[in-house]
Amino acid sequence: MSSVALRLDQPRESSKPTGWDRAHLGVVVPLCVVVAVAIVCIVVAALTSAQRADEVALEREKHLFIKSIANRAEWSMRKLSAAVPADEDAGNLDMKVLQQRVGAWHKTVMDHDILVVADSADQMAYSEVQRPSDPPHWTEAAFPELTPLIEHLQGHWSELPARSIRLTPRPAAYQALNGSAAFVLTVRGKPAIVAAVPLGTIAGRNHPRIALVVMFIDHALLADIGGRLGLAGLHNTGLEAATGTDVRFDLADHRDQIVTSFTWTPQRPGAEVLHSVIPFIGIAFAGFAILAGMVLRYMRRTAATIAAGENRLRYLALHDPLCGLPNRIFFGERLEATIADVKGGGSPAAVFYIDLDHFKDVNDTLGHHIGDELIRNVTLRLSRTMRGNDLVARLGGDEFAVITSASSDRASLDLIAGRIISTLCAPYSISGHTIVIGASIGIAVIDHRSEGEAADVMRYANMALYRAKNEGRSRACIYDTVMDADLSNRKRVEQDLRDAIKNDELSVLYQPIVNASGDKVVEVEALARWPHPERGLISPCEFIPIAEHSGLIVELGTYVLRKACLDAKAWPGMTVAVNVSPLQFRQLDFVKVVERILDETGFDPALLELELTESTLLGNLESADAAMRRLKALGVRLALDDFGTGYSSLLYLRRLPFDKLKIDRSFVLSIEKAADAAAIVHAIVSLGRGLGMKVTAEGVETAEQHLFLRAAGVHYMQGFRFGVPSTPAEVSARLATPGVYRSIEGDAAAALAS
Ligand code: C2E
Ligand code: MG
Ligand code: MG
Repeated sequence: MSSVALRLDQPRESSKPTGWDRAHLGVVVPLCVVVAVAIVCIVVAALTSAQRADEVALEREKHLFIKSIANRAEWSMRKLSAAVPADEDAGNLDMKVLQQRVGAWHKTVMDHDILVVADSADQMAYSEVQRPSDPPHWTEAAFPELTPLIEHLQGHWSELPARSIRLTPRPAAYQALNGSAAFVLTVRGKPAIVAAVPLGTIAGRNHPRIALVVMFIDHALLADIGGRLGLAGLHNTGLEAATGTDVRFDLADHRDQIVTSFTWTPQRPGAEVLHSVIPFIGIAFAGFAILAGMVLRYMRRTAATIAAGENRLRYLALHDPLCGLPNRIFFGERLEATIADVKGGGSPAAVFYIDLDHFKDVNDTLGHHIGDELIRNVTLRLSRTMRGNDLVARLGGDEFAVITSASSDRASLDLIAGRIISTLCAPYSISGHTIVIGASIGIAVIDHRSEGEAADVMRYANMALYRAKNEGRSRACIYDTVMDADLSNRKRVEQDLRDAIKNDELSVLYQPIVNASGDKVVEVEALARWPHPERGLISPCEFIPIAEHSGLIVELGTYVLRKACLDAKAWPGMTVAVNVSPLQFRQLDFVKVVERILDETGFDPALLELELTESTLLGNLESADAAMRRLKALGVRLALDDFGTGYSSLLYLRRLPFDKLKIDRSFVLSIEKAADAAAIVHAIVSLGRGLGMKVTAEGVETAEQHLFLRAAGVHYMQGFRFGVPSTPAEVSARLATPGVYRSIEGDAAAALAS
């Protein structure tokens, strides 16, 4: 069953975003962006921190390096200052004495490469090399390079010579140190620390003598400084660029001219920290990635579960739980889409509105489980009859509908409808029961000329269905505009009938019911008549269904009952039969209404006979039984009208307290034509007699029918042969003069019947 439903009714959800899509857009994408930004921030923070730490460390290394050089220079300067006498004494010292003192100190200290003493005229007065291996003429060669500095110190030039860097002291402290100073400059192509101390001015000279010591910043000194400061590979590169990861540190003079450069491999603590941290960051990222993956997986699964739930809910909301077919909502949506499609130039379509005949009877008599199974069987047959892209829906109860675009011409639609009807009308075998139902179909065509919405199309199909049912059921009708007129006519009739009941414009005629020999009126049946001011006398066959459909039948039935009780009081001892419609009988207060009317009119309950049809009893056997027994308790008699046209159920006859059976006119009419009708009449009579009931034959028109029925054992006869429905006055007249009445024979009766 479900496979059929799925074939026909996949909901259209293609363009709708799924739960995962929504989660993807609403949560996952922002989450991923936030995570990505966080990762980038962490990486950038780690890298910049490491870089900043390296920069700080490098600045510190540079600072310490220059401080070490300055410390050396200051040490040399202070030592040299200590080695020479005070300024005023030095000026008076003989050069030889001075030479001995300074030379002795130089040899003792063993730290300086060259010692030079310049006289007041900036001429080299004395020089000495530290190591015996150093050639003595070095000093002569180096002296011109020292001369600008000496001249500056002697006061010839206020500005420091180019390519000289003053290490200590700063100019402010210059005088405090008695003119001593230390510098870095290039001597003999090598960077060197030069410490200078003035040796006092010789009397009669303007400029002081200057003692200088030169300490080359050579490999040994750099190894010593590098070792102390932890500067790996510290060496002098002159003006060459650094290689690899080494840094170059330039020493520049006051004019920013590079004097010399040093390179070393910096410690890079940031990079070290980074290297040690990277594995942990990697592990953290990997863990985070796994966690994110798990969260995404969970979200995807959750979204999938939610989407499945949504689909399931949507399916339940749009499908009939009993048979799995699309329901009225789904059908409405599809119908609107079809109409839009046709209006947009698509091929024409048609709606089949299908109503099962007698389904309710099956439900009521055989139980709901059989009814449900029948619906499932109908679903299966209907689905198999239609094409795959047709939509088959259950609108509720015993109503189904189909949208098909297979065809829209009358002949093809009739053909399809015929196929549906023959399929649905074939007997069903359910739980041992063989069930036969009918199907009526109303068809509305949707083509480019169609106007209106889905509701209008359904109204047209419904009108056509109504027509199909009125024309005798188990047939199909295609809607045309005339039906609209029919409907408005019905509405008008309904309103007129309402007014007629209100204005007491209905009348009641009485048809005699005679004994078997036909010579005595034993009873009359009250039959409603509607003399319409414009349309003349309207037949109950026309207005009773309208009254039943609109509910007016309750009022109408009460009206006829009261009128019959009042009229019949004029015929003492005469039983009056009154028809009761199913809707009227099912009113909870029906028995009370009967009781009240009997009270009000003072009519003898024993002379009242209520005629019920089998459809009155269907589905409410229990309550019908109870109501009938209460009526019987009042003294009212009960007749089963039109027997043979409904279910002719023996159960009703056995269980319910009927006094009389009325054989339907259609059997009487067929007695002479069909042998089986005669057999049925015989069977009904013996059945009625067997159950202790009286049997009345309706519609007796001919002497042959009369004779046959009399021979068959029918107790009473009703028909034009014995009297047409007549006014109370006519009935009174006939009863007053018994025997005057002449039965109507042959053609006259036929004319009345037509
Ligand atoms: P019914 O209760 O079976 O009434 C008998 C119908 O058969 C009456 O039709 C009567 O005129 C017609 N008839 C009687 N003898 C003959 C005959 O020899 N030949 C032919 N061809 N017809 C005959 P009527 O009065 O047109 O009523 C039709 C139906 O309308 C009734 O069938 C009954 O079901 C319903 N009806 C009439 N009056 C009322 C009413 O007051 N209340 C209810 N609920 N239904 C009513
Ligand atoms: Mg009747
Ligand atoms: Mg009848």
